[in-house]
Amino acid sequence: MFVDSHAHIDGSEFDHDRKEVIERALAAGVTTILNVGTGDPHSDAFERAVDLGQKHNNIYTAIGTHPHDARHYNADAEHKTKQLIKENSRVVAWGEIGLDFHYDNSPRNVQLSVFENQLRAASELQLPVIIHTREAETETIQTLKSKFSSSTKRGVFHCFSGSMALAKEALDLGFFISFSGIVTFKKADDLRAVAEYVPTKQLLIETDCPFLAPVPHRGKRNEPAFVVEVARCIAALKNVAIEELGQITAANFARLFTPPV
Ligand SMILES: [Zn+2]
Ligand SMILES: [Zn+2]
Repeated sequence: MFVDSHAHIDGSEFDHDRKEVIERALAAGVTTILNVGTGDPHSDAFERAVDLGQKHNNIYTAIGTHPHDARHYNADAEHKTKQLIKENSRVVAWGEIGLDFHYDNSPRNVQLSVFENQLRAASELQLPVIIHTREAETETIQTLKSKFSSSTKRGVFHCFSGSMALAKEALDLGFFISFSGIVTFKKADDLRAVAEYVPTKQLLIETDCPFLAPVPHRGKRNEPAFVVEVARCIAALKNVAIEELGQITAANFARLFTPPV
């Protein structure tokens, strides 16, 4: 039993075979998928994600404005996101939100204020958050400390590729850390050291598909069934059976997102 805690399967990459992709996940033992809706909040991207979650009882939904799209976020976007969350109980998290100073698709000051605003909105709704952070470790931790410390919910640093120092800060703040297929890549020794360090009670696994397919599927389109390879890699690092790693991360997922049964 495995949970893919972060996937993007509502997008056009899966339009021709979404049904088969979901079936293959179930056949591989991936019982639950958290599908994350991203894109311009004024487009129909969030509705599309919510729709997919409503149609499948093994798919939960998260929606939020990605740092890439921060320039599109405003009061209307916040209102719309809140409405969708209130009307749909299968939306279990606000995200992905955060800072991406690698691509800088939105200006940094805009990313920062939009990150702060979405943290506030998520705490108002008492929802956990999904954090995307790249080349902005200090700013991410500072913002969480100043704007999210009073929230009753925590969240996850998804597709973790940061330093050991960032992992320690995130863990100290009570956040989960989720590893994707990157942890299986040949040159990812530093990241594997982080995965070995993260306590199993704060560990999650994900695909972040359609990107970042794990070894041995590297280079292909990624899909939720492949999360088993992430589990295999981390189970070996932690010296536990893959089934046990699957069960632990599935229980963690339920604890963080407390999805309705
Ligand atoms: Zn991300
Ligand atoms: Zn993502």
